[in-house]
Amino acid sequence: MSREILPSPMVEELERIYAAMETEYDRVASRIGLSCKGCRDNCCRSYFRHHTYVEWAFLWQGLRQLEQSRVDRFLERAREYMETARRRLDRNEQPRIMCPLNEDGWCAVYSYRMMICRLHGVPNQVSMPDGRVKAFPGCHVSQELTRNMGQVPYLDRTPLYMELASLERRFLGDKRKSLPKVDLTLAEMLLQGPPVF
Ligand code: SF4
Repeated sequence: MSREILPSPMVEELERIYAAMETEYDRVASRIGLSCKGCRDNCCRSYFRHHTYVEWAFLWQGLRQLEQSRVDRFLERAREYMETARRRLDRNEQPRIMCPLNEDGWCAVYSYRMMICRLHGVPNQVSMPDGRVKAFPGCHVSQELTRNMGQVPYLDRTPLYMELASLERRFLGDKRKSLPKVDLTLAEMLLQGPPVF
């Protein structure tokens, strides 16, 4: 089975966008003094949902670099994740379950992890097409650090989203209009396999 799912120029473009996200994240984190060191929480328990085919494909490109026995174990954990999440959602609870790809506190696909894994934590905002700006205060540590700050620095997701959306359009080409929208947890992306279209 080929390990390449995304053409190399698209991998390079996605890595460039991810690097820009990390630079922005570091800029805001250093301004508010945020560090993940010693945090008793773990962002990998957040109920993240992901929305692009291109990131889904890149995630699977990362999984294909791993031994099959490890991938099988992640798939088993993804099934358990789905069952637990379903039960909690049925009870109207927010699932806070460790991501199936987190092994002993480490991400098994660190270089291939998704946008939200890279941006979660710092205060951030996004401009909507209708001109409204949606702002998010960041994780509980960020909220504590910025509580008494007059001018809170925000990471602006808007240009990063636009670049990712542009890459997604190139990846999907003419199929874009006929494909269903992606709204999946990482566990679902694992169990569905690489995107096929
Ligand atoms: S993909 Fe990696 S960084 Fe993202 S939630 Fe899972 S373990 Fe954490």
